[in-house]
Amino acid sequence: MINEEMKEFMLNDSVERFIKYVQVETTSDENSSSNPSTKEQLELGKILVQELESLGLKEVELDEFGYVYATLPASEGYENVEPIGLIAHMDTSPAVSGKNVKPIVHKNYDGGTITFRKDPELTLSKEDSKELEEYVGLDIITASGDTLLGADDKAGVAEIMTALSTWQKYPSLKHGEIKICFTPDEEVGRGTEKINKEKLPKYCYTFDGGEMGELEIECFDAWSVKLTFIGLSVHPGYAKNKMINAVDVACRFFSQIPEYETPERTEKREGFYHLHNLSGNAEIAEGKMIIRDFDVEKNEKRIDYIKSLISAYKKRYPGLKIELEYKHSYENMKVYLEPHKHIVDHAEKAIERAGLEVKYTAIRGGTDGARLSAQGIPTPNIFAGGLLFHSRKEYIPTLAIQKAVEVIIYLAEEWSKKPN
Ligand SMILES: [Zn+2]
Repeated sequence: MINEEMKEFMLNDSVERFIKYVQVETTSDENSSSNPSTKEQLELGKILVQELESLGLKEVELDEFGYVYATLPASEGYENVEPIGLIAHMDTSPAVSGKNVKPIVHKNYDGGTITFRKDPELTLSKEDSKELEEYVGLDIITASGDTLLGADDKAGVAEIMTALSTWQKYPSLKHGEIKICFTPDEEVGRGTEKINKEKLPKYCYTFDGGEMGELEIECFDAWSVKLTFIGLSVHPGYAKNKMINAVDVACRFFSQIPEYETPERTEKREGFYHLHNLSGNAEIAEGKMIIRDFDVEKNEKRIDYIKSLISAYKKRYPGLKIELEYKHSYENMKVYLEPHKHIVDHAEKAIERAGLEVKYTAIRGGTDGARLSAQGIPTPNIFAGGLLFHSRKEYIPTLAIQKAVEVIIYLAEEWSKKPN
């Protein structure tokens, strides 16, 4: 059982680590092709390696691609418990500066509007994030107004580190073997690109994003689509009945995509088409789309609709060629988690034991966990506690950091109860 003294230790230790980690710049770069995408991420990796070694972990390593791996051996008598992996990402989103982050702890939040030292115009209130209502009386951490905070996902990193330090300080808390992996470049979609699956156990959890209590076992089913329109360019003065204006046809074509099925018109479990690039001239034009939904069948219907539009347009503009390329980018991870129900059950139980209500949410995007799940390592996501990510208003209540640590401790206990 976790007692009050342990909780206080968890809170102090995790907040201290969090404040330290967010001050290390780890912005990833979508335009870089190196691994990791930015050298700065290695600096946090080096700090974590030192800390993991001082906590007595084994096989501690920062590899050439910027991944940190470590192993915590099982408590005595718990060697037969199925090992689990705990994963968090070290990088922060390139959408907002992560340089010189100056975290501020707002003690005893009074429910009012929070202001920022470095930008007097910027405010944070319940209008921005209704969850703030639940955090009155708690300590809240923000950045200073000129950067993001980086709770996504340094909160996850700090929570895992504090769980390790809690196990070291309180050996009465038992656990099986725990594998740690901190990844670079999650925010640029490359967090598992160079991951060494040999160093991961059969089952993992990511601790990333999300308010207290969140458990994510679903993500989008995702497709990318490219359409190439090949027309016929003719001198515009003499083009009657001859020219097939590829870019003009492409504009008409994409206007047939249902307007109410776009990112700006959908939420929750609704899917969409998203035309994100259109270019061309009379001779040739190209449009790129992504298609997203939680149900693969609904996405397949969208592809069928595009195919039917293509045949209609070919009839309407004789001589026009339309080439269609599409590919399945990633699948809803639910498909991979369903056969291993106990992974989700243990997470649910651990969240409840930490005194929180479990909030199942479906991720309107992909995650490293989703990619790992597809690669044979089922990996649901558990909250790290932050809100308003990728923004200068990003914040986290310190209680959420402590609660996530409790969840990790209980999670290990749940796995120990039911060895497979
Ligand atoms: Zn994240």
